[in-house]
Amino acid sequence: MNTNTLQLQNETEVQGIQLTDLVKEYGSPLYVYDTESIEYQYKKLVGSFNDTNIRIKYATKALSNISILKYMNKIGIGLDVVSIEELKIGIKAGYAAKEIMYTPSCVDFLEIEEVISLGATLNLDSIPFVEKFGMKYGSSVPLCIRINPHVEAGGNHKIKTGHIESKFGISIDQLDQVYSLVDKYKIDMAGIHVHTGSDFGDIDVFLKVAELMYEVAMNFKNLRFLDFGSGFKVAYKKGDKETNIEELGSKMSASFAGFCKRYGKKLELWFEPGKYLVSKSGYLLAQATVIKPTPATTFIGLNTGLNHLIRPMMYESYHEIINISNPEGPKQKYSVVGYICETDTFAWEREMTETKEGDVLAFKNAGAYGFSMSSNYNSRIRPAEVMIYKGKAVLIRKRETLEDVLKNQIEINF
Ligand SMILES: *Cc1c(COP(=O)(O)O)cnc(C)c1O
Repeated sequence: MNTNTLQLQNETEVQGIQLTDLVKEYGSPLYVYDTESIEYQYKKLVGSFNDTNIRIKYATKALSNISILKYMNKIGIGLDVVSIEELKIGIKAGYAAKEIMYTPSCVDFLEIEEVISLGATLNLDSIPFVEKFGMKYGSSVPLCIRINPHVEAGGNHKIKTGHIESKFGISIDQLDQVYSLVDKYKIDMAGIHVHTGSDFGDIDVFLKVAELMYEVAMNFKNLRFLDFGSGFKVAYKKGDKETNIEELGSKMSASFAGFCKRYGKKLELWFEPGKYLVSKSGYLLAQATVIKPTPATTFIGLNTGLNHLIRPMMYESYHEIINISNPEGPKQKYSVVGYICETDTFAWEREMTETKEGDVLAFKNAGAYGFSMSSNYNSRIRPAEVMIYKGKAVLIRKRETLEDVLKNQIEINF
């Protein structure tokens, strides 16, 4: 497991700012993002590769606030988007469209046409669309294709994308059809892409997938890049095995250099981390509404729920939860639950310091797939978001109001 110096900092503060002070100022629940953590992860990743034309395209869907995207742009990270809406937000954040990789799944072809007119790098993941693309654009627009290598990788089944039953990508067994389409329409194949799913720690799987990709790459004459997607695993609890980025960097640098030599040209190597860049940066702060002893357990009820952080219920993910109002002292067992009328258990029988009504609890690793997967279920408003940049807290999203929930609803009169 990697040592991460950032994890050693005082857990109740970020860049010298007490998290409880942020709740006093902005209320709760509240999402907080630490930009230093993002920069640290980025530099660690890029620094692990040597002598490689590496490009990082942040997977926008993990955390898509426009100020986060602007920050990514500022520190030199490109974007990977999965919808035209994300693409337009990326452009609004200051990105040149061509720096943005658009990787859709099963969207309408009309959306693809609009993306092409905006000028983003296009990544297609079905043969019918490669054919449509060829007919309409021929060699006039460069193309990338997403390949499904049929390699089992990924944590939870719901986040695996590279297995044979996955809807994602063009099967590695159907590539002959792609080769003939490329011939027929003179398609300018600029890149090939693979993203085998989230959360795999095993570097050898990555290298095995890379070998398959190199073989495929030899069938395209004028590639500019190979995109290996992401899936980098981060630690959610102590003892979790994370992707060893240094090992990945040194092994991939060597394997990619070998490939470039065989290919006869130095290509760019792309990655699209989401979770790896932003998971650790984020905290969800919520307050205890009630301490409820029952025959089974003692519940801590919170003023948040699966509407604000769905990962525990959706992926059975573990999030460390710290009582930052009372971080020291003896621990006892609590079950932490939300306020939604639905079972929304964040933690069951978890050792926590003594917790009272009003205490602020901090969920760690809440940066990725936290706010971006939030909803208004139960007609609840969504939290505000704060970015900590250069030791200062900046509000980057206002807390919603009831008007926001009602905004597009049309009231009829009976
Ligand atoms: C979601 C996604 C990613 C990011 O995955 P993480 O596990 O968050 O790093 C990268 N590429 C594509 C195409 C994705 O859909």
